[in-house]
Amino acid sequence: MYIDRLISTESKQLKRRFLFTYVYLREIKNIVIHCTAGRLRTKAEAVQQFFLKSKSLGGRGWDIGGYHVIIEHDGTAVFCYPDNEVTNGVIANAGISNTNSINIALTGGLKWDNFTRKQKDTLSTLLLEYTKKYPSAKVLGHNQIARKACPTFDVRRFAAEAGVKQSNIFHHDAEGVLHWMNQVKHRYM
Ligand SMILES: [Zn+2]
Repeated sequence: MYIDRLISTESKQLKRRFLFTYVYLREIKNIVIHCTAGRLRTKAEAVQQFFLKSKSLGGRGWDIGGYHVIIEHDGTAVFCYPDNEVTNGVIANAGISNTNSINIALTGGLKWDNFTRKQKDTLSTLLLEYTKKYPSAKVLGHNQIARKACPTFDVRRFAAEAGVKQSNIFHHDAEGVLHWMNQVKHRYM
């Protein structure tokens, strides 16, 4: 009863933090890879601002950002939220949802696969670390469960080349990743 009253006086965000941190440790089943579809050199802080800024100021007006980790152009991994928080990366599809996922984004990818070698090296390292930390988790690209070029490469192939075990790769392709990657090329190149 005391806890109920305490929570009700907190902001929505703090309430969420409290519940997820102390009451419930969520199960991580997916590591979902995104790109910000913006400029390569955009900083993680600016991406976060975009999500959190009100709609009237040109943002999304969300109370939490889209990604747990944002990998900047120089390969720096910026950790925005602890694993136990639920971020706003995907619309649920094919059994994948935000509630059981870690969302990782690379800055860039507006027109094609323009990510830097350092960004991809960092992503490789993170994929190996996360699949070690969550041995039953599957790695996938947002483009496998949404009709968008997010990211602008095939994560299944990337993960395999990075040394992620086949059993930790989500092979299902619900929305035609290759088709959507091609759509971007036709539109912008
Ligand atoms: Zn995405």
